[in-house]
Amino acid sequence: MQVDEGPRPAGSSASKELAEHLVTALPNGALEPVPGGLQNVVGELPGSGPAIVVGAHYDTEAQIPGHVGANDGAAGTAAVIEVARALERELPAGHREVRFVLFDGEEEPAGCPEARFLECALRGSKAYAHAYADEVGDMILLDYVANRGLSIPREANSDPRLWASLREAAARVGAEDRFPAEGDGELAIVDDHIPFVEAGVPSIDLIDFTYEFADTPQDTPDKLDREALDAVGEAVTELVLGLAAEPAE
Ligand SMILES: [Zn+2]
Repeated sequence: MQVDEGPRPAGSSASKELAEHLVTALPNGALEPVPGGLQNVVGELPGSGPAIVVGAHYDTEAQIPGHVGANDGAAGTAAVIEVARALERELPAGHREVRFVLFDGEEEPAGCPEARFLECALRGSKAYAHAYADEVGDMILLDYVANRGLSIPREANSDPRLWASLREAAARVGAEDRFPAEGDGELAIVDDHIPFVEAGVPSIDLIDFTYEFADTPQDTPDKLDREALDAVGEAVTELVLGLAAEPAE
């Protein structure tokens, strides 16, 4: 459904139309304005603090004509929605608050060179972290999570302890092969978790940066694997179920 909307750069009418659909798919869904005319799509399952944030971005590349972001944005967004549905059914009584955040403006706007990505991109996550980071205890970000042969080692900015919990959760649902120990911390990626990392929130980014169709018009659903996306969704659901049941530290 997301990819059928065509290219959805931040601020475009296609992006706004998509946001109107996404907001109906999250529990207690709402749109939150982001400076520059953008908007994050948020949802929540209320509970005790500190909150757990599960996020992805829903915009596509403004500077690449025809980019529809099947793996880069849409897959993570779809996973966040399905994780929300599963948690709504499965969270135990007295659970911690879980928030779902679909970030706008992860990609750099037109005219922003790659070297200035941290400065001009990540607009939705910067706004969210600025407003709420002090209420967040854990942040889980899903970016390239559905490509064939999916394999995600820990990204270097991702919290080792939270990553270890993810790997344990993945093992409980039979998805451990997707999160190998090999390659741990070898690659650092600037993504929507960085504003949370900078605010001191333990955060992890699930991203398979070997995806060969990244940032091309060929990033389309035929390059993806439903089983890979399913494995990530199950592992993240299991991780959040464990975190949400723990008493707050
Ligand atoms: Zn992305």
